Amino acid sequence: MTGKNRQEKSPLIDKNGLRTDGRRPDELRPIRLEIGYLSRADGSAYIEQGKNKIVAAVYGPRELHPRHLAQSDRALLRVNYRMATFSVQERKKPAPSRREYEISMVIRQALEPMLFLKMYPRAAIDVFVQVLQADGGSRCASTTAASLALADAGIPMRALVAGCAVGKVDGQIVVDLSDIEDKEGDADVPVVMAPSRGELTLLQMDGKLTSAELTKALEMAETAIKKIYDMQQSVLQKTFAQIREEIGEETETVPPSAEGEEAEPPRRRPPRPAPVKPSFSEDFEEEDD
Ligand code: ADP
Repeated sequence: MTGKNRQEKSPLIDKNGLRTDGRRPDELRPIRLEIGYLSRADGSAYIEQGKNKIVAAVYGPRELHPRHLAQSDRALLRVNYRMATFSVQERKKPAPSRREYEISMVIRQALEPMLFLKMYPRAAIDVFVQVLQADGGSRCASTTAASLALADAGIPMRALVAGCAVGKVDGQIVVDLSDIEDKEGDADVPVVMAPSRGELTLLQMDGKLTSAELTKALEMAETAIKKIYDMQQSVLQKTFAQIREEIGEETETVPPSAEGEEAEPPRRRPPRPAPVKPSFSEDFEEEDD
């Protein structure tokens, strides 16, 4: 729904310039990110963005079924976005809707340019996104989580992507629209970017914006997405630092146990394989078609 009959409804931005949830126009909702959320998936991530609660799981690269879908020169990336029946106010029908098929496709298109699919000919990389609770902007939050889950699975990639919707609400450009702003606002523009490369991988628009408004909206989206990207980086760094600590890469020194006793010389733990780190480097850069 766009902004029709908005005058008769309570405003989405109050006289102090604050939104229904108390945010300023350029303020993101609180975000929580976690990786390694599911133990059975090859890689997984969980995101909370406002009231959105979304899990992304990655399986692969693995053998592709049905085989006739196999591509001789690259892996097939499949994305499956689904909303749980209890994820919205009114029970959602369990059968996948056209919207879910469309969002699966746009998430795939937002992720694909950053992956080195030619490294895995004939294989499949499957990404499952499950929305447990939806609160507007779920395709962007899902893409942010899916990118992290791919990194967690160790799939080589050019860069992480992160998403955030921008839009127009009560005549003002705002970032990270909530459910009510999405439904009752004037325009909703989901954006996904790879901030480290300055590349845009998804841009959609529902509603109307002037070209000046769109320019402003994209600038605000870029700033917001950079913040989300920093959070992605920090959750990856924190998790891999923890793994490194757990497998004990550092030299362990044993303190003297009692007075007068001489300290033992430092003991070195036997070397263990380093954890598989996701790669975002240009080292894997493959030739474009
Ligand atoms: P996005 O979640 O990417 O913004 P939409 O603009 O299509 O995608 O949906 C906006 C919001 O509308 C969703 O995040 C969700 O909160 C709500 N919504 C989507 N589908 C349903 C549904 N079947 N019933 C109730 N609410 C829904």
